[in-house]
Amino acid sequence: MTICLLCQQPIVAQYSLCALFFKRQFYQDRLCSSCQKNFQTIDQLSCCSICGRSLKQSEVCRDCIRRQQQSGELLRNQALFRYNVGMHDYFQQYKGRGDYQLRQVFAGSLRQATQPVKQSVLFVPIPTSSSHFAQRQFDPVLGLYGEVLPITPLLACHDHDTHQAQLTRQQRLRTPQYFYCQQAATEKNELKQILLLDDIYTTGTTLYHGLSALRQAGYRGKITSLTLAR
Ligand SMILES: [Zn+2]
Ligand SMILES: [Zn+2]
Repeated sequence: MTICLLCQQPIVAQYSLCALFFKRQFYQDRLCSSCQKNFQTIDQLSCCSICGRSLKQSEVCRDCIRRQQQSGELLRNQALFRYNVGMHDYFQQYKGRGDYQLRQVFAGSLRQATQPVKQSVLFVPIPTSSSHFAQRQFDPVLGLYGEVLPITPLLACHDHDTHQAQLTRQQRLRTPQYFYCQQAATEKNELKQILLLDDIYTTGTTLYHGLSALRQAGYRGKITSLTLAR
């Protein structure tokens, strides 16, 4: 019997009508129906068409309009849940208190959102800094996606002095970059798409740093992103 990872109550299997009719694979989160009520999925038909923020109708949100005006490439993000109180509490327990078991709570939704796994897509997680890793002893983004998708850890964090030294002067003069590409991303140019993976989309800054690190490393294909919450 599967139990809810948040309250330890047994989970009653739910099969959506869609799954029954079309015999599609249906993946369930490790949440009981009462805990599920604390989370709100984002309706993919009424959200910002760029960052995936929940809106009353499908349009472009103010933050993305501002980004559009600043020019530069826009990153299309899909977010599955609203960052509400329930989600805040979940991350508090998972990342804040370091309850590693909770990485599997939303595995069903993440699997559902990325099925079928396309061979031509590279799944690239946003890395955690070594100081955060030292605190938690695990990488929360790898925790969420590592058992769900075949991931390629192409990006790494600049841990200041050591990695900064490897950059050219020109690279260092550009806006401070959080990440760098661990291998020449130009080798990946035959791939149609890179899907960046992160846990929460707040301002988008982290994901945009990921995007620019891949572009700086020479990747020319399509780049989109997926986050659990927005
Ligand atoms: Zn529960
Ligand atoms: Zn937006």
